[in-house]
Amino acid sequence: MKTRRDFIKISTVGAGAAALSYKAFGANGLGLFKSNSADPVSDEDLTPYPTYCEVCFWKCAGWAYVDKKGKIRKIVGNKNDPHCNGRLCPRGTGGIGMVYDEDRLKTPLIRETGTDGKQYFREASWDEALDVVAQKMDTLRKEHGPECLALFSHGTGGSLFTHLVKAFGSPNITAPSFAQCRGPREVAFTATFGEPVLSPERTDIRDTRCLVLIGSHLGENMHNGQIQEMSEAIDNGATIITVDPRYSTAASHSQYWLPIKPATDLALLLAWIHVIIEEKLYDKDYVEKYTLGLNELKAHVKNNTPEWAYGITTIEPHVIRKTARTMAGAAPRTIIHPGRHVTWYGDDTQRSRAIAILNALLGSWGRRGGFYYPDSVKLPKIKTPPYPKPKRTWRDAVPANKYRLADEVLTTGVCDATIPNPNLSCHLRGWIVYGTNLMAALPDQKKTLDAIKNLDFLVVVDTMPMDLAGYADVVLPECTYLERYDYIRTSPHRDPYIALRMPSIEPMYNTKPAWWMTKQLANRLGLADYFPWKNIEELLDWQLKQVGSSLEEMKHIGVKKFNRAYDDLYWLENLPDYQFNTNSGKIELYSTALSDEGFDPFPVYTAHPEPQSGYYRLNYGRAPMHTFSRTSNNHNLWDLMDENSVWVNPVVAGLWGLKKGQKVWLKNQDDVISSFPVKVRVTERIRSDSVYMVHGFGHTNKKLSRAYSRGASDSELITHVDMDPVMGGTGMRSNFVTFLLEDPALKRKEVKA
Ligand code: SF4
Repeated sequence: MKTRRDFIKISTVGAGAAALSYKAFGANGLGLFKSNSADPVSDEDLTPYPTYCEVCFWKCAGWAYVDKKGKIRKIVGNKNDPHCNGRLCPRGTGGIGMVYDEDRLKTPLIRETGTDGKQYFREASWDEALDVVAQKMDTLRKEHGPECLALFSHGTGGSLFTHLVKAFGSPNITAPSFAQCRGPREVAFTATFGEPVLSPERTDIRDTRCLVLIGSHLGENMHNGQIQEMSEAIDNGATIITVDPRYSTAASHSQYWLPIKPATDLALLLAWIHVIIEEKLYDKDYVEKYTLGLNELKAHVKNNTPEWAYGITTIEPHVIRKTARTMAGAAPRTIIHPGRHVTWYGDDTQRSRAIAILNALLGSWGRRGGFYYPDSVKLPKIKTPPYPKPKRTWRDAVPANKYRLADEVLTTGVCDATIPNPNLSCHLRGWIVYGTNLMAALPDQKKTLDAIKNLDFLVVVDTMPMDLAGYADVVLPECTYLERYDYIRTSPHRDPYIALRMPSIEPMYNTKPAWWMTKQLANRLGLADYFPWKNIEELLDWQLKQVGSSLEEMKHIGVKKFNRAYDDLYWLENLPDYQFNTNSGKIELYSTALSDEGFDPFPVYTAHPEPQSGYYRLNYGRAPMHTFSRTSNNHNLWDLMDENSVWVNPVVAGLWGLKKGQKVWLKNQDDVISSFPVKVRVTERIRSDSVYMVHGFGHTNKKLSRAYSRGASDSELITHVDMDPVMGGTGMRSNFVTFLLEDPALKRKEVKA
């Protein structure tokens, strides 16, 4: 049964751009890579435990060192791990702050209504909380079918909840990493090469001679191994070309910075393709042998000259030609980087297609210095019953069967499917949200709240009282990654590696790992056969023994390398008759997959909306010391960066009379005003048609004692979304903001009224 779900501040009543830090960027800049132990002790007095980092999703393997009193003193990288090569990024070394954050969720919480009619969270035992969750899931299963449950998951323990929810009978398992992040590039590269880019990206940056970054935050987004390889490539003389309206960290290490007009990248890409074809700079043998559609592509880009692109992008024709020739001169050791967060303007799959096409013309896919074929260890699965076959999916609860090329469940689709539609017989009714703060991760907060209001129940699993937890019916506090086992890391890489995460200390407070929670819930739901192990050590040991290792061995080494299953499938030239996993078996310059679905088989540039007078495009990005909104309360990382600022071009600052450090509120095109003011940073590093801020600040939950009210949240200002018609990605860079120089509290009340 639905209950009115007020936001509850987590409190209980009753009983219960810094510089990159690797060599080419200035060694150990800011001291970020030093030990984070305030009171260093000798390594001889410390015991190391293997782990892999959960502060971001690169999952670098390392060692957590624990002193004799049971306190974690430092974390260092595992030198045998290709994700980090023994060096953690500033966030990784600061991961201890997650454990010793006094604001952590400490015990299960259950929403209740008091005699005064007010809602509050009551501290509960695990048995009580899990009984409530299982009872709600069971009621949903009996009354509406298990398919009415959805799981939002972001993080390693989410795999265990995925297993539980599939065993329960629901296929609705989603993550912001697809529709809000890298989905368009995966769909585009799959349409072109028959395979996605994957994570970590299969880019052979180490050996590249030319790296092209388009709106990329590489360098501020510290995806560790990739940054190390970029540094190595720069040291080896690689050319870096950066396309960005902002003078980013990567731009500052580039031979070419192209300060493009925002939202016009596709025009530049088409012009580059034009130059490479017209000047016959493409890899003729490779294109002839492996690709489909060169002649049609040539005709398609005939008019996309550099002069045409100049009028759109503001990048001068001679620069477009020169950079195109530079890329071709280095080919096939050239990478037009596919990017990671690529949901910008709604035509993102097509822009990513243009990137894939350029790489194909330059012959970089499957070539040294371009893109390699990765491999991973396939750990055997313990025998369990088959998952029940769902009768419905989230798609049955939304009006049109759109986004058919989306090969993952869409987060925003799940929100849509949760809001009842009078013309449809079903809608989703229960959510479990694991490790992702949807209020910051999804655009259009109003829609997310509309969906939440329609839920029969919301369960939040997290380590911290993030904003979303305030809307939960039950909050399940997970212990941090340094206090738990998780599944073995098997991410793809050049060579297959596995890494172990084990607890370095016992879970603090009354917190539990995901494996324990899911097994307990399975027992209560009659799904115990899906968790046929006593504890996760037993499962991991069994799996490891099937591949010639053991839990005992992994506890001593942390990381283990295996042989590639197909040693020859590393570079394409070893496989003369290779068939790509596309409809034609070729690299599809002309995409039959897109044309079969009624989309343009080649990317087409269309203009995007411009800001009205006095408004500026809101661009957002990353900082090396934070991951999304999840780290802003971590005291180690908060010490390095405690709030964001809004970058404003000096011309714009002059127009508004803005001074460095002045605090302003931001108002967007829909009259939404930032909850908190943000400091102005006056800088030439941003174009005058845009502003920029680091994502993940402006928390509204007072229980995040350090992060609360620090800076502004880009997420709350992203109310306009341009949906990608191909795969349902949410284009979020067509929001525009203006400045309010005085406290708009009164104005905000008017807006809400
Ligand atoms: Fe952790 Fe940094 Fe590696 Fe991400 S890149 S997993 S934060 S060490």
